[in-house]
Amino acid sequence: MAATILAVRTWPADEYTRVTLEMDSELKAEHFTLENPNRLVVDIDGLSMSSKLDDLVSKIRPNDPYIASVRIGQNRPDVVRMVLDLKQPIAPQVFTLKPIGEYKYRLVLDLYPQVAQDPLVAIANSFQDEDPLADVLENLAQNPPSTAPVPSVEGQKLPTNPPIASKPTAPPEPPAMAAPTPSSRPVLVALDPGHGGEDPGAIGPRGTREKDIVLSIARRLKKLIDAQPNMRAYLTRDNDYFVPLHVRVQKARRVKADLFISIHADAWIKPSARGSSIYALSQNGATSTTARLLAQKENNADLIGGVNLGSHNKQVAKVLLELSTTAQINDSMKVGGNVLSEIGKINRLHKKSVERAGFAVLKAPDIPSILVETAFISNPEEERLLRSSSHQDRIARAMLTGITGYFASSPGLARRA
Ligand SMILES: [Zn+2]
Repeated sequence: MAATILAVRTWPADEYTRVTLEMDSELKAEHFTLENPNRLVVDIDGLSMSSKLDDLVSKIRPNDPYIASVRIGQNRPDVVRMVLDLKQPIAPQVFTLKPIGEYKYRLVLDLYPQVAQDPLVAIANSFQDEDPLADVLENLAQNPPSTAPVPSVEGQKLPTNPPIASKPTAPPEPPAMAAPTPSSRPVLVALDPGHGGEDPGAIGPRGTREKDIVLSIARRLKKLIDAQPNMRAYLTRDNDYFVPLHVRVQKARRVKADLFISIHADAWIKPSARGSSIYALSQNGATSTTARLLAQKENNADLIGGVNLGSHNKQVAKVLLELSTTAQINDSMKVGGNVLSEIGKINRLHKKSVERAGFAVLKAPDIPSILVETAFISNPEEERLLRSSSHQDRIARAMLTGITGYFASSPGLARRA
């Protein structure tokens, strides 16, 4: 019996473009790449052409960084061949996902650039004029990274030269200037809008998606932080695509963030549940059942968003866990307390103190990390607030005050080390 395509989705982003085929049974796919011109060819076994499959052709956006066009045809009986014409050479990851949540079986094509993007480049590009991270970039040029922050395919050769080397953003400095004191660089705050792409996060009664709200709040907070003297913000995702939890952590470490803030919106079965709450990492049990269930739900993002378990991602996540320190958690509690008391001035609090549980995204061993549940998107009144730009601004301002309060009382964990 031939499988049926239920939906096709595309998630174009600079970091990588994803194509998802959702179907009612698990299908085997084989793939290979061709050069001159660059193409990705995917053969799907057990499939016949259908109108849903044809939809994919029209879903490729002109501004997709990787895909120029798609051609689909019946290659052999029961084998559909997709040819993706590429705008640049890619390192593809093709994998399947079992049914989870609302989704049935998924076949996922992730198109990564052959040269992995470095998050430092994004920061440097956004501050070309002032170049506040010159010392970080200088350091990077001197100590090229041995590993890339994005998932890599086994056996795939990654260039050892960082892409930053060709950027004009790090002006050459005399050697004497190359080692400034750590305190001379701006305080860097990694903002992590939860979910994205295949993972919508929680959905409100009016259909509001958590992933959209938290991205909007994060962008507002980034603007506020960037306007502060000697402070800069970095977004772990700045568009609607999925970033695996441990990659969010890796990105924050790559840019040497002084603080990591994951931004979310809560949900509960009962629409009456309401209020903001803040969480820090626990390595041995949660401080409450609520915290434990919430961590479980947020950690499921990887299953819904879809990560390639065939790659070495799992191992990386495990290493991060083992390295976590009590100093990180102590500072997380401090900054969490500051932000909680500020948010308490603009919204009811769901929990009066910072709670703790085993959130995967809070496991950077050396960066104080908190997860902010801004409000309940499942509560009709709070969903309305979360949709309003003035309330999003209020949340961002409260978080900024909490953050600056923390840095005023502490030089930050990395700077004390
Ligand atoms: Zn969430």
